[in-house]
Amino acid sequence: MSSDRIKIVWIYPDLLSTYGDQGNVIVLERRAALRGIFTDTVHVRSDESVPVDGDIYLMGGGEDRPQILAAQRLRNDGGLHRAVEYGSVVFAVCAGYQLLGTEFGGEEGQPVAGLGLLDMRSGRGQKRSVGEIAGDVDPALGVPMITGFENHQGITRLGPGVRPLAKTRVGVGNGDGTEGAYRGHVVGTYMHGPALVRNPALADLLLRWVVGRELERIDDSWAGRLREERLATVLPA
Ligand code: GLN
Repeated sequence: MSSDRIKIVWIYPDLLSTYGDQGNVIVLERRAALRGIFTDTVHVRSDESVPVDGDIYLMGGGEDRPQILAAQRLRNDGGLHRAVEYGSVVFAVCAGYQLLGTEFGGEEGQPVAGLGLLDMRSGRGQKRSVGEIAGDVDPALGVPMITGFENHQGITRLGPGVRPLAKTRVGVGNGDGTEGAYRGHVVGTYMHGPALVRNPALADLLLRWVVGRELERIDDSWAGRLREERLATVLPA
Protein backbone atom coordinates (compact mmCIF):
# COMPACT_ATOMS: atom_id res chain seq x y z
CA MET A 1 0.00 0.00 0.00
CA SER A 2 1.22 3.52 -0.69
CA SER A 3 -0.28 6.19 1.49
CA ASP A 4 0.77 9.16 3.60
CA ARG A 5 -1.83 8.44 6.25
CA ILE A 6 -1.18 5.26 8.13
CA LYS A 7 -3.16 3.28 10.64
CA ILE A 8 -1.25 1.69 13.50
CA VAL A 9 -2.91 -1.10 15.47
CA TRP A 10 -1.57 -1.82 18.96
CA ILE A 11 -2.79 -5.30 19.76
CA TYR A 12 -3.91 -6.29 23.25
CA PRO A 13 -2.20 -3.74 25.52
CA ASP A 14 -4.07 -5.44 28.37
CA LEU A 15 -2.19 -8.73 27.75
CA LEU A 16 0.93 -7.96 25.73
CA SER A 17 2.90 -4.91 26.77
CA THR A 18 5.93 -5.46 28.99
CA TYR A 19 9.17 -3.50 29.39
CA GLY A 20 7.84 -0.40 27.69
CA ASP A 21 6.98 -2.11 24.39
CA GLN A 22 4.29 0.51 23.81
CA GLY A 23 7.21 2.81 23.09
CA ASN A 24 7.31 1.14 19.67
CA VAL A 25 3.94 2.72 18.87
CA ILE A 26 5.11 6.14 20.03
CA VAL A 27 8.29 5.93 17.95
CA LEU A 28 6.37 5.08 14.77
CA GLU A 29 3.92 7.92 15.38
CA ARG A 30 6.72 10.39 16.02
CA ARG A 31 8.95 9.35 13.12
CA ALA A 32 5.95 9.43 10.78
CA ALA A 33 4.87 12.88 12.02
CA LEU A 34 8.37 14.29 11.45
CA ARG A 35 7.94 13.32 7.77
CA GLY A 36 4.47 14.84 7.54
CA ILE A 37 2.82 11.42 7.58
CA PHE A 38 -0.42 11.31 9.58
CA THR A 39 -1.05 8.35 11.86
CA ASP A 40 -4.23 6.98 13.41
CA THR A 41 -3.49 4.61 16.25
CA VAL A 42 -6.03 2.12 17.51
CA HIS A 43 -5.49 0.31 20.82
CA VAL A 44 -7.31 -3.01 20.56
CA ARG A 45 -8.02 -4.67 23.89
CA SER A 46 -8.34 -8.43 24.03
CA ASP A 47 -12.16 -8.31 24.22
CA GLU A 48 -12.33 -6.28 21.00
CA SER A 49 -12.00 -7.43 17.42
CA VAL A 50 -8.83 -6.69 15.49
CA PRO A 51 -9.52 -4.32 12.58
CA VAL A 52 -8.38 -5.64 9.22
CA ASP A 53 -7.57 -2.26 7.66
CA GLY A 54 -4.45 -1.46 9.68
CA ASP A 55 -1.16 -0.68 7.97
CA ILE A 56 1.13 -1.65 10.86
CA TYR A 57 0.23 -4.08 13.66
CA LEU A 58 2.33 -4.08 16.81
CA MET A 59 2.42 -6.58 19.65
CA GLY A 60 4.54 -6.56 22.79
CA GLY A 61 5.83 -9.09 25.27
CA GLY A 62 3.82 -10.78 27.97
CA GLU A 63 3.82 -13.32 30.78
CA ASP A 64 3.09 -16.95 29.86
CA ARG A 65 -0.63 -17.02 30.70
CA PRO A 66 -1.59 -13.72 29.07
CA GLN A 67 0.41 -14.92 26.05
CA ILE A 68 -1.68 -18.12 25.82
CA LEU A 69 -4.90 -16.11 26.14
CA ALA A 70 -3.72 -13.66 23.47
CA ALA A 71 -2.92 -16.51 21.07
CA GLN A 72 -6.36 -18.09 21.58
CA ARG A 73 -8.18 -14.80 21.08
CA LEU A 74 -6.17 -13.79 18.02
CA ARG A 75 -6.75 -17.21 16.44
CA ASN A 76 -10.50 -16.99 17.06
CA ASP A 77 -10.62 -13.38 15.89
CA GLY A 78 -8.83 -13.92 12.59
CA GLY A 79 -8.38 -10.19 11.93
CA LEU A 80 -4.59 -10.27 12.10
CA HIS A 81 -4.48 -13.21 9.68
CA ARG A 82 -6.58 -11.31 7.18
CA ALA A 83 -4.47 -8.17 7.56
CA VAL A 84 -1.31 -10.20 6.86
CA GLU A 85 -2.97 -11.70 3.76
CA TYR A 86 -3.61 -8.12 2.58
CA GLY A 87 0.09 -7.33 3.04
CA SER A 88 0.03 -5.33 6.27
CA VAL A 89 3.21 -4.87 8.29
CA VAL A 90 3.54 -6.70 11.62
CA PHE A 91 6.19 -6.01 14.26
CA ALA A 92 5.97 -8.29 17.29
CA VAL A 93 8.15 -8.54 20.38
CA CYS A 94 8.96 -11.55 22.56
CA ALA A 95 5.62 -13.16 23.57
CA GLY A 96 4.08 -11.43 20.55
CA TYR A 97 6.88 -12.83 18.39
CA GLN A 98 6.56 -16.36 19.74
CA LEU A 99 2.82 -16.45 19.15
CA LEU A 100 3.26 -15.60 15.46
CA GLY A 101 4.81 -19.07 15.04
CA THR A 102 3.10 -22.43 14.77
CA GLU A 103 3.67 -23.34 18.42
CA PHE A 104 5.14 -21.97 21.66
CA GLY A 105 5.71 -23.24 25.19
CA GLY A 106 3.10 -22.55 27.87
CA GLU A 107 3.72 -21.92 31.57
CA GLU A 108 4.48 -25.62 32.22
CA GLY A 109 6.30 -25.99 28.92
CA GLN A 110 3.21 -27.53 27.29
CA PRO A 111 2.92 -26.85 23.55
CA VAL A 112 0.40 -24.14 22.73
CA ALA A 113 -0.81 -23.50 19.19
CA GLY A 114 0.36 -20.20 17.74
CA LEU A 115 -1.05 -18.21 14.84
CA GLY A 116 1.05 -19.91 12.16
CA LEU A 117 1.94 -16.59 10.52
CA LEU A 118 5.67 -17.35 10.66
CA ASP A 119 7.33 -20.70 10.00
CA MET A 120 8.90 -21.22 13.42
CA ARG A 121 8.19 -22.87 16.71
CA SER A 122 9.19 -22.00 20.25
CA GLY A 123 9.57 -24.11 23.33
CA ARG A 124 10.72 -23.57 26.87
CA GLY A 125 14.48 -23.36 27.32
CA GLN A 126 16.50 -24.67 30.27
CA LYS A 127 17.03 -21.24 31.75
CA ARG A 128 15.73 -17.71 31.39
CA SER A 129 17.60 -15.40 29.07
CA VAL A 130 17.89 -11.95 30.60
CA GLY A 131 20.17 -9.19 29.38
CA GLU A 132 21.36 -7.19 26.44
CA ILE A 133 21.17 -8.35 22.82
CA ALA A 134 23.28 -7.02 19.97
CA GLY A 135 23.39 -8.49 16.51
CA ASP A 136 24.09 -8.02 12.82
CA VAL A 137 20.88 -7.62 10.84
CA ASP A 138 20.23 -9.60 7.65
CA PRO A 139 22.00 -7.44 5.02
CA ALA A 140 18.92 -7.69 2.78
CA LEU A 141 17.13 -5.33 5.20
CA GLY A 142 19.77 -2.58 5.14
CA VAL A 143 19.53 -1.88 8.88
CA PRO A 144 22.60 -1.34 11.11
CA MET A 145 23.40 -3.46 14.14
CA ILE A 146 20.49 -4.02 16.50
CA THR A 147 20.54 -3.36 20.21
CA GLY A 148 17.91 -4.49 22.68
CA PHE A 149 17.07 -6.10 25.99
CA GLU A 150 15.74 -9.64 26.30
CA ASN A 151 13.90 -11.42 29.11
CA HIS A 152 12.35 -14.73 28.13
CA GLN A 153 12.36 -18.45 28.84
CA GLY A 154 11.48 -19.49 25.33
CA ILE A 155 13.84 -20.64 22.62
CA THR A 156 12.82 -20.53 18.98
CA ARG A 157 13.63 -22.75 16.01
CA LEU A 158 13.16 -21.20 12.59
CA GLY A 159 11.79 -23.17 9.66
CA PRO A 160 12.76 -22.69 6.00
CA GLY A 161 9.88 -20.27 5.43
CA VAL A 162 11.46 -17.46 7.46
CA ARG A 163 14.83 -15.74 7.67
CA PRO A 164 16.52 -14.72 10.90
CA LEU A 165 16.30 -11.00 11.57
CA ALA A 166 19.89 -10.96 12.83
CA LYS A 167 22.93 -12.98 13.88
CA THR A 168 23.57 -12.42 17.55
CA ARG A 169 26.87 -11.01 18.77
CA VAL A 170 25.65 -10.70 22.35
CA GLY A 171 22.69 -12.36 24.03
CA VAL A 172 20.58 -15.43 23.34
CA GLY A 173 17.75 -14.41 21.01
CA ASN A 174 16.36 -17.53 19.34
CA GLY A 175 18.98 -19.64 21.14
CA ASP A 176 20.97 -20.81 18.10
CA GLY A 177 23.06 -17.76 17.27
CA THR A 178 20.21 -15.97 15.55
CA GLU A 179 17.70 -13.42 16.78
CA GLY A 180 14.17 -12.77 15.57
CA ALA A 181 12.65 -13.76 12.25
CA TYR A 182 10.88 -12.24 9.30
CA ARG A 183 8.97 -13.17 6.20
CA GLY A 184 7.76 -10.45 3.85
CA HIS A 185 6.57 -7.62 6.05
CA VAL A 186 6.00 -9.73 9.18
CA VAL A 187 8.82 -9.25 11.68
CA GLY A 188 9.35 -10.71 15.13
CA THR A 189 12.10 -10.09 17.67
CA TYR A 190 13.05 -10.86 21.24
CA MET A 191 14.17 -7.24 21.68
CA HIS A 192 12.52 -5.05 24.24
CA GLY A 193 14.20 -1.80 25.00
CA PRO A 194 11.81 -0.67 23.46
CA ALA A 195 13.15 -2.08 20.22
CA LEU A 196 12.23 0.81 17.92
CA VAL A 197 13.58 3.44 20.33
CA ARG A 198 16.98 1.79 20.25
CA ASN A 199 16.80 0.93 16.55
CA PRO A 200 15.32 3.87 14.63
CA ALA A 201 16.43 2.38 11.30
CA LEU A 202 14.18 -0.60 12.00
CA ALA A 203 11.29 1.79 12.68
CA ASP A 204 11.95 3.55 9.38
CA LEU A 205 12.07 0.21 7.55
CA LEU A 206 8.53 -0.55 8.77
CA LEU A 207 7.35 2.93 7.77
CA ARG A 208 8.98 2.65 4.32
CA TRP A 209 7.23 -0.65 3.71
CA VAL A 210 3.91 1.12 4.31
CA VAL A 211 4.41 4.40 2.46
CA GLY A 212 6.36 2.79 -0.35
CA ARG A 213 8.96 5.53 -0.67
CA GLU A 214 12.22 6.69 0.85
CA LEU A 215 11.88 8.83 3.95
CA GLU A 216 13.57 12.15 4.68
CA ARG A 217 16.49 11.90 7.09
CA ILE A 218 15.80 13.17 10.59
CA ASP A 219 18.05 14.12 13.48
CA ASP A 220 18.80 10.88 15.29
CA SER A 221 21.57 12.17 17.52
CA TRP A 222 19.74 11.31 20.77
CA ALA A 223 18.94 7.79 19.63
CA GLY A 224 22.50 7.58 18.31
CA ARG A 225 23.91 8.39 21.74
CA LEU A 226 21.68 5.78 23.35
CA ARG A 227 22.82 3.19 20.82
CA GLU A 228 26.47 4.03 21.31
CA GLU A 229 26.15 3.79 25.08
CA ARG A 230 24.31 0.46 24.96
CA LEU A 231 26.58 -1.11 22.34
CA ALA A 232 29.74 0.11 24.06
CA THR A 233 28.52 -1.57 27.25
CA VAL A 234 28.26 -5.02 25.70
CA LEU A 235 30.62 -5.19 22.75
CA PRO A 236 34.36 -5.71 23.16
CA ALA A 237 36.29 -2.48 22.57
N1 GLN B 1 6.50 -15.78 28.15
C1 GLN B 1 7.48 -15.80 27.12
C2 GLN B 1 8.82 -16.40 27.55
O1 GLN B 1 9.16 -16.37 28.71
C3 GLN B 1 7.67 -14.39 26.62
C4 GLN B 1 8.29 -13.47 27.64
C5 GLN B 1 8.25 -12.02 27.23
O2 GLN B 1 7.45 -11.61 26.43
N2 GLN B 1 9.10 -11.22 27.83
O3 GLN B 1 9.54 -16.92 26.72
